[in-house]
Amino acid sequence: MSQAFQNFIGGRWVSARSGRTFANLNPANGEDLGSFPDSDASDVADAVAAAATAQRAWRLTPAPKRAEILFRVGALIAARKEDLARAATREMGKILLETLGDVQEGIDMAYLAAGEGRRMYGVTTPSEMPDKWAMSVRVPIGVVGVITAWNFPFAVPTWKIFPALVAGNTVVFKPSEESPEMGVHLARLLTEAGLPAGVLNLVHGKGPSAGAPLVAHPGVHVVSFTGSNAVGTAIATECARLGKRVSLEMGGKNAILVMEDADLDLASRAIAWSAFGTTGQRCTAASRVIVHEKVYDDVARRVIEHARALRLGDGLDPATEMGPIVNVRQLEKVHAYVGIGAGEGANVATGGERATEGALARGSFYRPTVLTDVRPEMRVAQEEIFGPVVGFLRAKSVEDAIEINNRTPYGLSSSIFVGDVHRAFQAMRDLDTGIVYVNHGTTGAETHLPFGGTRGTGNGHREAGHTMLDAFTEWKSLYVDFSGRLQRAQIDNN
Ligand code: NAD
Repeated sequence: MSQAFQNFIGGRWVSARSGRTFANLNPANGEDLGSFPDSDASDVADAVAAAATAQRAWRLTPAPKRAEILFRVGALIAARKEDLARAATREMGKILLETLGDVQEGIDMAYLAAGEGRRMYGVTTPSEMPDKWAMSVRVPIGVVGVITAWNFPFAVPTWKIFPALVAGNTVVFKPSEESPEMGVHLARLLTEAGLPAGVLNLVHGKGPSAGAPLVAHPGVHVVSFTGSNAVGTAIATECARLGKRVSLEMGGKNAILVMEDADLDLASRAIAWSAFGTTGQRCTAASRVIVHEKVYDDVARRVIEHARALRLGDGLDPATEMGPIVNVRQLEKVHAYVGIGAGEGANVATGGERATEGALARGSFYRPTVLTDVRPEMRVAQEEIFGPVVGFLRAKSVEDAIEINNRTPYGLSSSIFVGDVHRAFQAMRDLDTGIVYVNHGTTGAETHLPFGGTRGTGNGHREAGHTMLDAFTEWKSLYVDFSGRLQRAQIDNN
């Protein structure tokens, strides 16, 4: 019998009202990891009602006290880091080394957000009138709907939930149906840390049946979403119709630029890590490499060698270097893209097929794939593939490489390997992405810097960093007149 997990609503663990469930499967071997409520609009309504009730007291709890719960949760997560990472690897497949990093990001985010409890600075400013005080403060917005992807099943929810909570909002969280167990762990940890009932509510389920009602519910004031562009755009459209705030973190088509004076060994290792880490399923994964024509063959050869040497397997096995793709549907999509690339004239230099030898046959494994002779206009150079596939493009100069980088609908992360400091700064200025790395791959964001993308990757919001509260707070301007007279701004002092 597989374990039966539940929703967490108003401080109680409950099944979906309909009684329906869905199964959570391990992508490395098909193991059934448990059943989860297949929730619908009625469960969402219960959760929003609980969140609205809890918000009345939570917003009045002093922010430093709210933050103490986050400090405690950070310590609890740290104490259980390995168990949490193992659970994440089992349900979404990436190797333990990386799920340990995923959990560490949650710890970092807990402490960072907790620090806001004693900051959350507003602005005081002189009034234009005598005997009058003027200031502005951040205030919570209300109930936040959080909808997340599965590829960072622990870190990404914490990037949204911890800042939302410290600011005095309450939350209804719908985790991805591909990584629901990490949502359960997060709810348990916050409860153990002392979070009052109803402040965080967890509703499992599918996008259309549980996510869409959460977006549409009139009691939800902000939607914070991480996922694909197709879903994010539909959510933004609905939020615009309903006059709701929405913050979107969506896809990427990230590139690593390699100039002829770069350290090619370092660049090749960084490309392999950025392209094939998390089996290429990071929003910041490198899926394009734009190489100066003088070193193109050399860099491609090195990366192909790295790709061929990677050991595939269950992410819990310490020898494994690349885990499975999250499910067979996604594997088929990745494979279809390789076919599209070949049809457009790209050369499948290595990979391009499912890996089925031995125990791999039980999971959704795909060989690390390198496409060469990719041109900027090809679909494989424009569309997010979200798998272990990287395409090599040629550039004639740094200007040419930057221009190719900027010619996609996405703007999350980019990187340049270069020796010349002048060209490094030129690239930092001209690469049109929310994150730019120099002599480092496209992945590896740190929580105390803003995270997010330009253009089609998002709608201008940034998570984490000093911007973490922006999506979850309103500004309130406060004027206190202690003159005892009727004072009219813009009139009496002019
Ligand atoms: P997805 O868009 O399929 O699903 C994301 C979430 O949206 C899931 O919880 C899903 O259940 C929900 N959902 C689906 N349909 C919905 C609907 N109609 N209404 C409301 N919710 C709905 O994405 P995914 O496959 O889980 O994740 C992969 C995508 O996420 C990639 O595009 C990746 O680049 C992106 N991503 C972006 C970032 C970032 O910070 N920019 C981080 C991680 C992942």
